[in-house]
Amino acid sequence: MDVSRRLVILGKQGAGKGTQAERLAQHHAVPRISTGDMFRAAVKADTEAGRRARSYMDDGELVPDAAVLDPVGERLSAADAQDGFVLDGFPRNVRQADALEDLLGEGGLGLVLELVVPTDVVLRRLAGRRVCSNCGANYSVEHPPSSDWTCDRCGGDVVERDDDTKAAIKRRLWLYERETEPLVAWYLAKDKLAAVDGTGHPDSVTSRLLRAVDSRIGAAVARQARGQD
Ligand code: ADP
Repeated sequence: MDVSRRLVILGKQGAGKGTQAERLAQHHAVPRISTGDMFRAAVKADTEAGRRARSYMDDGELVPDAAVLDPVGERLSAADAQDGFVLDGFPRNVRQADALEDLLGEGGLGLVLELVVPTDVVLRRLAGRRVCSNCGANYSVEHPPSSDWTCDRCGGDVVERDDDTKAAIKRRLWLYERETEPLVAWYLAKDKLAAVDGTGHPDSVTSRLLRAVDSRIGAAVARQARGQD
């Protein structure tokens, strides 16, 4: 079974995960699955799950694992995720990573990409980050939409995210270090990790990520040819 397009992207808030995950997903014709987007959609639709998630999100806390695993499991079993996916925002801790292995079964993940960006750079980026309140497209103070904070893609209002307050950002970065960063060593030990420099022009970052995935796919193809898979 070819699992090489089962991808996870890890990185601090503001590392550019959302943008890069979208590009990777398009390149490999697989869906980008963002748990943050799933929760924001639930909040917007005012579902029970959305109402429960909202208070955690606004405070920069993680939504409890129990509320994350079911929707992720359901999304991963959809038809469009069978040839691969790019997971963005999940897993966020070792318990979620363990649960993901169980959900995926044979072969597990193809590759986990760690987007490496220094904290001072992400803090600068987060302060200027803006998103479309309708479709989630990313903008920034330096790269605004072409007209008056109206989304170029869908015409929605481009705003600051509710959880991009100073206190919530600080809390999320702290939680990233404590809960999510340990996954780097966890996946490294499983030979599933590629660290990629996330600084510089977004197009350069995309090229680096695509190269990392391609070399993993190449290695899998070679192994298969040698009859080792
Ligand atoms: P960021 O990476 O900037 O924190 P996300 O869009 O990934 O933003 O997530 C926004 C919020 O959604 C998180 O702060 C958290 O409250 C919740 N969330 C998203 N993914 C998860 C997850 N895998 N586990 C727990 N909470 C999550």
